[in-house]
Amino acid sequence: MSIDDRNLVIPLGSTLGMLGGGQIGGFFAEAALRFGYKVAVWDPSPNAPAKRFASVAFDTSFDDPDTLKRFADVSDCASLEWENIPVRLTDGLAKLIRVRPGSKSLGLAQDRTKEKHFLTDNHIPVTKYAVIKNPSELGEVQLELPWIVKTATLGYDGHGQWRISNRHGIAGTEKALKGDGPWVVEQVVPYKIELSVVVGYDGQSKFVTFPPTENIHENGILRISISPARISMDIGRRAQDLAQEVIKNIGDPGVFCVEMFLLSNDDLLVNEIAPRPHNSGHHTIDSFTVSQYELQIRALVGLPLVNPQQLTSSVLLNVLGQEYTNLTDADTTNRILKNENARIYSYGKPDVRPSRKMGHILFSGPSQEDLLSEARETHKILSQV
Ligand code: ADP
Ligand code: MG
Repeated sequence: MSIDDRNLVIPLGSTLGMLGGGQIGGFFAEAALRFGYKVAVWDPSPNAPAKRFASVAFDTSFDDPDTLKRFADVSDCASLEWENIPVRLTDGLAKLIRVRPGSKSLGLAQDRTKEKHFLTDNHIPVTKYAVIKNPSELGEVQLELPWIVKTATLGYDGHGQWRISNRHGIAGTEKALKGDGPWVVEQVVPYKIELSVVVGYDGQSKFVTFPPTENIHENGILRISISPARISMDIGRRAQDLAQEVIKNIGDPGVFCVEMFLLSNDDLLVNEIAPRPHNSGHHTIDSFTVSQYELQIRALVGLPLVNPQQLTSSVLLNVLGQEYTNLTDADTTNRILKNENARIYSYGKPDVRPSRKMGHILFSGPSQEDLLSEARETHKILSQV
């Protein structure tokens, strides 16, 4: 019998291991504590936010074999919050304890070339793309411009991406591409809306999907998430089906997010897969009967995946970098919280860095239009230096 015996429920009181200690791991840990689980967090950064909730914390690099053993000793099972956890680590851990999601989804999500090939092999629509191994191959790419060039690995929040709007931009980008390839060159799609769909899978037969969230990015970074997305029921259903199809093809149990583009002709293209809950899904804590984090725990420990029901509409405003310092000014905090729809979430990151996701403010209530203007107004207040 494999270590990951699919019928075995990991009892309350056990310790759940979390690889990565950012805000996603932090929300996982909070939810786990509420259930009655303990949490072990492994993150090379000693001050990683999720460690605030951990009964055991490890600070070594993810390559350290001794920590792998110690982490497996204290954890009854493990999940992850970051796609750049080495697959060697999840492979090694999976020999000792249950790891969900598994190395397959992790390996796909951390390498854009593998992810794109996997999606196309499974007939999932994606943007037109090419793969180059050397920067000098950029000039030979046959796609219609404009393009986005993306590093195959380690990109996030728009880092490791270069936009090329016309032929003149090719030479400059060629010079900017440093280090080892490959790179994925994608045609820029003039999407109407970006959507994300969170999917849970129990590893046997049960899938659950949240309704699509609408995402507004600024410079490649998520700024605002609107739930439910302002789309028709039909498009919503198609987006949920498509996301489920992607995760079914991978076959790993766990919680995932599928990012997609909605085009002007209402076609949907899959952009990328996250093998974990998503920053665009934090609102599920407040606005659904079951959050993406609770589902991650349920999928991990073998408890039933239940269908999330939406309780209220929401608009989530990410608080980035210096905006967080502004938010901590008592007058500003006071002013923002005068609005009964607003709730502040701070991630507990010790250092403010430009554009870093430091927290979010969730606006929930009946009128989506009001929530959106409240979020935009708050963004204005926080951007004033
Ligand atoms: P990451 O989230 O890992 O930084 P993404 O591939 O999701 O990388 O790109 C970040 C954002 O850049 C997307 O959410 C989208 O706003 C924009 N983007 C990425 N690829 C395309 C594309 N082919 N066409 C148009 N916009 C894109
Ligand atoms: Mg993305």
